[in-house]
Amino acid sequence: MGNLTIIQFFHWYYPSENNLWLHAAEQAAHLKEMGFNFAWLPPAYKSAKGDTEPGYAVYDLYDLGEFYQKGSIRTKHGTREEYLRAIGALRDNGIGVLADVIFNHRFHGDGKEIATIQKVSTENRTEFEGEPMSTDVSTVYNFPGRNKKYSNYTWDHHSFSGTSVNGEIFMIHNEYTNGTWGKVISNQFGNFDYLMGDDVEFRNPFVREELKQWGKWYIENTGVAGFRLDALKHMPTDYYAEWIDFLKDTFRRDFFFIGECWRNDRQMLMEYLDQTAGRIQLFDVPLHANFFEASQKGRDYDLRSIFNNTLVQVRPERTITFVDNHDTQPLQALESFVEAWFKPLATAVILLREQGIPCVFYPAVYGAAYSDEANGQTRNIKIEPVPGIERMLHARRDLAFGYQHDYFDHPNVVGWTRGGKDEMALSGFAVLISNGDDGYKTMSVGRRNATKVFVDLLGHRPEKVTIDQDGGAEFFVSAGSVSVWVDEKYLSVENNK
Ligand code: CA
Repeated sequence: MGNLTIIQFFHWYYPSENNLWLHAAEQAAHLKEMGFNFAWLPPAYKSAKGDTEPGYAVYDLYDLGEFYQKGSIRTKHGTREEYLRAIGALRDNGIGVLADVIFNHRFHGDGKEIATIQKVSTENRTEFEGEPMSTDVSTVYNFPGRNKKYSNYTWDHHSFSGTSVNGEIFMIHNEYTNGTWGKVISNQFGNFDYLMGDDVEFRNPFVREELKQWGKWYIENTGVAGFRLDALKHMPTDYYAEWIDFLKDTFRRDFFFIGECWRNDRQMLMEYLDQTAGRIQLFDVPLHANFFEASQKGRDYDLRSIFNNTLVQVRPERTITFVDNHDTQPLQALESFVEAWFKPLATAVILLREQGIPCVFYPAVYGAAYSDEANGQTRNIKIEPVPGIERMLHARRDLAFGYQHDYFDHPNVVGWTRGGKDEMALSGFAVLISNGDDGYKTMSVGRRNATKVFVDLLGHRPEKVTIDQDGGAEFFVSAGSVSVWVDEKYLSVENNK
């Protein structure tokens, strides 16, 4: 089996007028050529903000850009027809689509109703502030624009456990909450069930069933290969296990599930993996945090600790590695964007090692330029593609096989090798990264590469390195850089693939 690689095919500010679905269809062949197996596409259903928001502010999961709701027919990314065509084009190129699923919350209900709500402390959601009160809340979602097509489920205060009024958080009292939040894995703020908007109540069996039927409908209508699951730490763990098993039983096949459990806390991620018993892969948030810290500290960061406290270090088979995403990019909520100089180094770490399945962020390949308001001022952002990323993707696809040997023996220069395998004649390589000065290191690429001549695939180093009889050689790296040493014969093969 080959090496799996995922692309997150969007960023927060991808322009609505450029129609992401048309762009994805048009890029399908290029994505295949680069070696991607899966494309994670953003939410395809109607946002409460119509076509101006990527879809995380969910309004209607059944409206994939088909109904005039919230000011437009299309979503930010295009229409339902265009979405389905993009999935088809990607599938024709052997790329499975991962749909983005936001079950935790909804925004901008269609009507008001009377419900009993009670304010909780923003800092500790298990502490009530004041008495329960019966009042008007905007928690009725009956989707008049869709007029009950696909589902006649009406969401109301029985389907939500919390709501927000004027920026304050209220628990909704109904027959399911009984004055408590759902049991979630995160105890930040006392209990982190409530995230935002009208927060969904998963103890309601009708909610559980409705979301299962939606999953079935979604697969039947779109043919996606899997799902990226948003905001896991804000929802009860048992529900996703139930949802996933339902889909597997219904379709009698496997789907690929990636979960976002956003916390730099390996222990919590491991607990989540245990509780979902191998059903879900998780993004390695601690590894991203290490990349960010390393990029900030420059040569003062000890590269030998790049895997400290990461998920990939302890649960490699369940880990999705990544450098950045739509939440960490500049001007977005988490804004922990790995600095440009370190991106090629981090990219080598996710693409060229044996452990973890890498997910490449769209701007790393395509770049991005956008502006947004921050502290009352307009900021213009320009992100350049990561130099050498296509060559590293090719090296992952063609060469990243065989045993891996680590040389993490210096604070500023670390490296690793892959020995290759016989079925792939040119496979195997040596990677060296430096966050300090020019460096060198003696490493072994194994006896099957003895006497071959290796060169830097990325073109940063001019040397030709001849591997000795035992498979060893001295490899080089420039200051603050990465070099990927490969059999020189690969240079002509790679460009002609
Ligand atoms: Ca929740």
